[in-house]
Amino acid sequence: MNSLKIQITKNENKREKVPADQLIFGRTFTDHMFIADYTEGIGWHDHRIVPYQPITLDPSATILHYGQTVFEGMKAYLSQDGVVRLFRPEENMKRMNHSCDRMSMPKINEDLALEALKELITVDREWVPSEPGTSLYIRPFMIATEAHLGVSASLTYSFIIIMSPVGSYYKEGIHPVKILVESEYVRAVAGGTGTAKTAGNYASSLKAQEVADREGYSQVLWLDGIERKYIEEVGSMNVFFKIDGQVVTPALNGSILDGITRKSIIQLLKHWDVPVVERKVSMEEIREAHRTGKLDEAFGTGTAAVISPIGEFRWQGELFYVNNGETGDLSKKLYNSLTGIQKGTMEDPFGWVV
Ligand code: PMP
Repeated sequence: MNSLKIQITKNENKREKVPADQLIFGRTFTDHMFIADYTEGIGWHDHRIVPYQPITLDPSATILHYGQTVFEGMKAYLSQDGVVRLFRPEENMKRMNHSCDRMSMPKINEDLALEALKELITVDREWVPSEPGTSLYIRPFMIATEAHLGVSASLTYSFIIIMSPVGSYYKEGIHPVKILVESEYVRAVAGGTGTAKTAGNYASSLKAQEVADREGYSQVLWLDGIERKYIEEVGSMNVFFKIDGQVVTPALNGSILDGITRKSIIQLLKHWDVPVVERKVSMEEIREAHRTGKLDEAFGTGTAAVISPIGEFRWQGELFYVNNGETGDLSKKLYNSLTGIQKGTMEDPFGWVV
């Protein structure tokens, strides 16, 4: 995007609001959306905020056939003083450009994209929910729009931001989930697209999730694509373990998504002088830690849940319970601290909030 002259067309037919306790994740959208178009040789143009509406695509558009698309996920919170707060939004814009690079898509101007987002939030200010635990989920994404069936990078794109008020992730308090370790399907491999937030990674994860759902597990634990030995991620979250007092998380290895919650947790733990290491973690090591009573806690991390404690793993027919299926103290402390910083009820020593 070269300049930021945003044309605003107000929605005259306001969408119906859903009470906070009836919000289902990603089903309700605000009155407006932001769009900018890209044309090879011209760059970004026609930045506009328009009523939330369907988009028109040619049936041969590259996105529909070859999945040339990227997205981001972030949240805005309304603090008690009535200020809308974004959590590390520049990190999302940076990651979006990393994804664009991997998918041969044009970069956005990160500062201007953040400005556009702030403008959109201002227009839809009344949609930021205020009830405890609620937030405004923000979905920036880019699609390849060229009408052309050849397998080549599109020459035209749209960058769009839509927003969705979401209810509390933990309606009955933070509680541990059951995880099925996936030994057949893989999410990503080094050299593939795992470090990018691109649609194909999520489409190809659905099959394993179907099996997990059928067996009563809420998410799958992904192992590496070569040996099915090392732990990668849990569902669409990064994963942490507390083993014998030390926090470990799989190192970024070229197939794991560089989560912003993951990064923030590592910074918080270091700030608290809690030992934390990024390295390879095998499923065997987790089994051994469990057997010797050293597996203190396990949890997933991501924008949606912030912290999702893990109470049980099933791996090759074996069950391991973590912390007797209860939420551990570190998981609780991390959850309270991160959500406190996000909502402005706790000090933000790192300057994360915008
Ligand atoms: N891994 C995957 C595959 C994800 O989709 C996400 C959600 N963006 C995460 C991890 C967590 O990332 P973040 O903390 O930035 O939400």
